[in-house]
Amino acid sequence: MSYPEFPPDLQPIIDFHGHLCPGLVLGYRVAKAGMQRIHAMRSEDEELVAIVENNSCAVDAIQFMTGCTFGKGNFLFRDFGKHVYTLALRPRGRGVRLSLKGDVFREEGRDERIEQILSMDEHELFDIQDVSIELPQQARIHNSEPCSKCGEPVMETRLIKKDGKHYCIPCFNEL
Ligand SMILES: [Zn+2]
Ligand SMILES: [Zn+2]
Repeated sequence: MSYPEFPPDLQPIIDFHGHLCPGLVLGYRVAKAGMQRIHAMRSEDEELVAIVENNSCAVDAIQFMTGCTFGKGNFLFRDFGKHVYTLALRPRGRGVRLSLKGDVFREEGRDERIEQILSMDEHELFDIQDVSIELPQQARIHNSEPCSKCGEPVMETRLIKKDGKHYCIPCFNEL
């Protein structure tokens, strides 16, 4: 199957994700529309943060395109099972919230759906709102201490203290 009208910047995202699917294309549209919207008011020293409310294929496109990643701590997953995506700028929290409209998918087939998502106007696809949100503190480096049971170093904020000892979470659960 071929999609001659595919935007060329979609290919590296497909390579990253491993396959082409409607979810990935949806994430592509979220990142495009969202970044466009807030880059207009972006200043040099602000950092982009992405908040996703599901863990579908869409979030891979968003990580790839925004550069917000789980490892850097500027990619936040809220397990709400909703196609809602917020992009915001640190430190002030000015951003945009995109929520997939409920009745957009008229197409049943996978390929048709992909084409539909790519061709729809972003305002037909999403409810787009400018928002101002409270952002969590930037990720900090914490010291590690060895677990009293397994001896493996554990970030101090994740140690559980009991009877003068401190345990990693898996060891504590086995006590
Ligand atoms: Zn996928
Ligand atoms: Zn342990």
